[in-house]
Amino acid sequence: MIEHSTRRRFLAAGASAAAAFSLPRGPALGQTAPRVIVIGGGFAGATAARALKKADPRIAVTLVEANRTFTACPFSNLVLGGLRSLDQQQFGYEGVARDGIEIAFTAATQVEPQSRKVSFATGSALGYERLVIAPGIDIDWNGLPGYSQAAAQKMPHAWKAGEQTLLLRRQLEAMEDGGVVVMSAPANPFRCPPGPYERASLIANYLKTSKPRSKLILLDAKDAFSKQRLFQNAWKELYPDHLEWVALSNGGKVTSVDPAEMTLTTDFAKHKATVANVIPPQRAAHIARLAGVADNTGWCPIDPVTFESKLVPNVHVLGDAIIAGGMPKSAFAANAQAKVCATAIAKLLAGEPPSDPKLINTCYSIVAPNYGFTVAGVYVPVNGVLTDVQGAGGVSPLEAPRSVRAQEALFAEGWFNTITGEIFG
Ligand SMILES: Cc1cc2nc3c(=O)[nH]c(=O)nc-3n(C[C@H](O)[C@H](O)[C@H](O)COP(=O)(O)OP(=O)(O)OC[C@H]3O[C@@H](n4cnc5c(N)ncnc54)[C@H](O)[C@@H]3O)c2cc1C
Repeated sequence: MIEHSTRRRFLAAGASAAAAFSLPRGPALGQTAPRVIVIGGGFAGATAARALKKADPRIAVTLVEANRTFTACPFSNLVLGGLRSLDQQQFGYEGVARDGIEIAFTAATQVEPQSRKVSFATGSALGYERLVIAPGIDIDWNGLPGYSQAAAQKMPHAWKAGEQTLLLRRQLEAMEDGGVVVMSAPANPFRCPPGPYERASLIANYLKTSKPRSKLILLDAKDAFSKQRLFQNAWKELYPDHLEWVALSNGGKVTSVDPAEMTLTTDFAKHKATVANVIPPQRAAHIARLAGVADNTGWCPIDPVTFESKLVPNVHVLGDAIIAGGMPKSAFAANAQAKVCATAIAKLLAGEPPSDPKLINTCYSIVAPNYGFTVAGVYVPVNGVLTDVQGAGGVSPLEAPRSVRAQEALFAEGWFNTITGEIFG
């Protein structure tokens, strides 16, 4: 482990080291406070950092996050639809620091599992007893011919909220009435399975209300998707003239894009877009691959009881980066996994066995103002895989009065405020 003075150089907030080290130490935790480093201060990482400190205040927790402001993806489709502003999506880390967590605002650039050390873009390094990697996703820039970082400036993905969200919103606003918005959705697995369909709905809502001669075409690399019948019923009711979904079997899979021509090519046709939103294939973010916790699928296999990597000992992986069995890549899931993992790490550090977890996920989707629905699931480890408990979850009823849909939209907002309040408040 590096010297205390070196460590302090990159600590931007939460001068908690002294407090953490001066607390009485339990015998099981040994002579010095064990250090856990958490890479990534998103839904999974920030939850894990706070839950670890809560589980045992003697653990010295360092959260490493590349950005001082976190921009949340859930509800960012409402920003695209003109129903919400981006600053309602943004959160700082003051609340996390208040819990006595050291925060290093820098990028983790290397992990050395042998010497249990993480290096940072600042040039510093820090040792750990256990490491949590929760870095989210990267766009797979080799996953779709023609799509690149430069192409994303013309055909935004907006699958990481922030500048990309604003870029796509500005393009939609600037589009003439009568323009065609073409979206592409990738094959599984990817971040937020219902996300493309919620986005298509909310853009269609914007077109219907502000550019009624325009339409959206959603090209899909799948024939089936999350909450499909609920979405399709809503589209039939709300957007019959503004949203067309093209399934894989109807030629929906986009095989290449051309940003200069603004075209998306499928096996069957070439689609010319006035505005293009390309949601490309994804994989675990770069640091996961550098640390050796991602396998050749691009995602990270974990033990579902402790979320410890199946590839690298003493390293736990959370959130969108993992292979989570039946559990979707959602903020709700990331938050649930982080709590289970933090409890398991505290137990492991105290020399106790971790207990078998039960995890819950709920994904809300908004298809129009005051119109929402959900899918929920319960997951337990079965033979090393997080497995959906049959009959424990479910989806919103297919037939329901608008008052029920309005209530679900309210619940969605309540969920967003609760989870972001818990993590960043
Ligand atoms: C349009 C859209 C809508 C969505 N809607 C919902 C929804 O309604 N409900 C829901 O539950 N989920 C939703 N999601 C999914 C949700 O956003 C993700 O599942 C969630 O963000 C995953 O959390 P995470 O912590 O794994 O990753 P993230 O939240 O992306 O956090 C990762 C963090 O790690 C940091 N990081 C990465 N690499 C490094 C490094 N090397 N060093 C330091 N820091 C690093 C990043 O800066 C980032 O802050 C949606 C996603 C999208 C795109």
